[in-house]
Amino acid sequence: MNISPYNATVTEKIMISPDLMILRIEADDPRDEFDAGQYLLLGLFASEIRSKNSEPEDTPVNPEKLIQRPYTIVSARTERKQFEFFISQIKSGKLSPRLFNLEPGRRLHICSSNSGIFRLDETPEGSDIIMLATGTGISPYISFLRSHIVERPESKMIVIQGARHRWDLGYNSELEFLEQSYANFFYVPTLTDADDQWKGQRMSIEDLLKNDFLQNEFNISPDPERTHFFVCGNPEMVANVSDWLLGFGYRKHHPDNPGELYIEEF
Ligand SMILES: Cc1cc2nc3c(=O)[nH]c(=O)nc-3n(C[C@H](O)[C@H](O)[C@H](O)COP(=O)(O)OP(=O)(O)OC[C@H]3O[C@@H](n4cnc5c(N)ncnc54)[C@H](O)[C@@H]3O)c2cc1C
Repeated sequence: MNISPYNATVTEKIMISPDLMILRIEADDPRDEFDAGQYLLLGLFASEIRSKNSEPEDTPVNPEKLIQRPYTIVSARTERKQFEFFISQIKSGKLSPRLFNLEPGRRLHICSSNSGIFRLDETPEGSDIIMLATGTGISPYISFLRSHIVERPESKMIVIQGARHRWDLGYNSELEFLEQSYANFFYVPTLTDADDQWKGQRMSIEDLLKNDFLQNEFNISPDPERTHFFVCGNPEMVANVSDWLLGFGYRKHHPDNPGELYIEEF
């Protein structure tokens, strides 16, 4: 008997821009609890059609191969069957162009276990939490906030989201709503290619930090005893911010070797 590895169905696809989408899926069976910030492997056979808005593959893939990649779960950690993902299309990539061709009702594979050590629940209670993101790097923070914001009233929680244009700021309405709803949560979008109407910050995340933005706006200095940093997204931003924080005595976090700097590159 040939059992298909497809075990989930697309329920909703929301295009944010031609290469950015929110994909909601429903697993066939309820799954184990996951921790906010963890990821699942999504998979499609290479025989699936690529999106019209992608580039042809350099080297053809065996159509019977199940292509799998990790994607961070955006949903709150209480979800067992419905999972949300925020996905960007790499036009020359193997899996993301096939995911972009999915529509509601189509089937796909999700792996059996959740993984990942980029987790808010490993930070000490009461520490301030700074979350820095570019692109789809915002995904784990939406899960952190949906899962944990009510449990951390004593922590200042700040999301700084960097993008080129206003329309690249995924989840900004949800983040603005959270800022209005929780006195300890602050949302700082910053654009490097903003139009004249933009009233917000206009620097890269790295430049904001180096210009003492956190100190001036929130009275937070880079102090590993007090403030934990999460950095997720573009590898260049991640490297620049990490280097800057290491200069203040920050240590990269690993569950076997705890630190105050949590890093995830996409
Ligand atoms: C822990 C983890 C969580 C992740 N979560 C997410 C998520 O929530 N959302 C999401 O969209 N992605 C996420 N990713 C990235 C995702 O797993 C894939 O790597 C991505 O979708 C590209 O897969 P692909 O098969 O289309 O491209 P591939 O065939 O794997 O890659 C094609 C080429 O594109 C390059 N490339 C990869 N990423 C980029 C990029 N951003 N810009 C330019 N070139 C690139 C690669 O170096 C490679 O050479 C995550 C990755 C990790 C490790």
